[in-house]
Amino acid sequence: MSIITKAREMLGFSRGATLRKVYETRVRCRRCGEELTAQVNLLNDLSIDYERDVYTVRKLIVGSGANRCFQAIEVRLTFNKNRQLIERWIADGEFVDEPEAAE
Ligand SMILES: [Zn+2]
Repeated sequence: MSIITKAREMLGFSRGATLRKVYETRVRCRRCGEELTAQVNLLNDLSIDYERDVYTVRKLIVGSGANRCFQAIEVRLTFNKNRQLIERWIADGEFVDEPEAAE
């Protein structure tokens, strides 16, 4: 075992234990009822809100067009410093899944 591997293990970087990078939530279009998945890259998509000390992201999700519906669903999510969802808001659609319980 190399010294570097040993150090990483001591810091908790064991193999396979990676930080979650993507947050997914299911939404339903209010117009046509199509269910879509909103994906947020927790490393790239978040903006920091210095006033509230949280991360926010705004996503526009457009349907596949299978139902001839091109309604954009707007989703706004707020995460705390540990990348846990603390608030969510949606326009022109509804959330299908239950919010994750904060650990
Ligand atoms: Zn739709």
